[in-house]
Amino acid sequence: MKRQILILYTGGTIGMKSSAQGYAPDDGFEALLDTRLRLQQSPDSIHQLPDYHVVKFSQLIDSSNLMPADWTQIGQTLNDNWNNYDGFIVLHGTDTMAYTASALSFILQGMNKPVIITGSQIPLSELRNDALDNLVTSLILAGNYDIPEICIYFNGRLLRGNRSKKIKSAELDAFDSPNFPWLGQVGIHIDIQKKLLLKPGQPDFNLPHCNPNRVVITPIYPGISARVIDALLDSDEVRALILQSYGVGNPPDKNTAFIASLERAGNNGVVLLNTTQCLQGSVNQGAYATGATLNRIGVTPAADLTLEAAFTKLHFLIGMGDDAATIRKNITRPLCGECSHTD
Ligand code: ASP
Repeated sequence: MKRQILILYTGGTIGMKSSAQGYAPDDGFEALLDTRLRLQQSPDSIHQLPDYHVVKFSQLIDSSNLMPADWTQIGQTLNDNWNNYDGFIVLHGTDTMAYTASALSFILQGMNKPVIITGSQIPLSELRNDALDNLVTSLILAGNYDIPEICIYFNGRLLRGNRSKKIKSAELDAFDSPNFPWLGQVGIHIDIQKKLLLKPGQPDFNLPHCNPNRVVITPIYPGISARVIDALLDSDEVRALILQSYGVGNPPDKNTAFIASLERAGNNGVVLLNTTQCLQGSVNQGAYATGATLNRIGVTPAADLTLEAAFTKLHFLIGMGDDAATIRKNITRPLCGECSHTD
């Protein structure tokens, strides 16, 4: 029996059309997909595709407009349809795709079916595009393989969603997971790394209420001042600050006002999470005396969480009502393959 796949179209370049203001989301995606498939594939090869049904966001978005509440809305749609389909494809803009992939991995824990997020750098409406291939291959993956994970499929790469990043703005190989091996590669053959896949679980889905003001981020840069931290945290709504520090987790510890601002925030109940600006490796706050300062003032090292996974996991845990102490304890305990075990 053919698998039944639900395609959720949220917007993004894949379904855009050019307008006087540049590419903008377009409603006619489903009809265009139908035409393109019929034009470019033989009836025989179309039969190799699973059956699919398309639903769409009432407001299609360029994903740079995405809000944390949209993760919950996507999660809600997948949750509502979970028992009626064998697999899911989310069509999404590339700009914030890695955030959504990470967020969905926390929302939809214990997955037992594939959820593949894809999009494209060139719209399906263009003669030459990467949209059709990304979508057709995603359909083949969701329709024929047992992949119980939130993945991104893009330009021949199947990536764990919560390890992925958009790394190129204007190339077709826009996504990678620099700190985790690819789950699969699609070339002449489809090669899935079964031993890397998460084991199928029992669905344990949670739809958090995400307040966009809860989590803030700042890179550390030469000359950063305490005022930056104080300004970021100048609201009762903020519950967590992500630092993107240097190397293995080093801040400018000679800047005592800066360190004092962080310490004050931590004492006031803000979760301070230290990620690295590097694409590979992990945070090790004790390796240098500069980093050890952060241990002394209660900053939590983020291990090898990507910025996107750290950000969305904080939103998820805060949205689920966890307090600061619980979040500090659990943030680097892997829930769904997002980081390596640290204990
Ligand atoms: N700005 C677009 C979006 O993220 C870019 C893309 O889809 O490639 O929706």
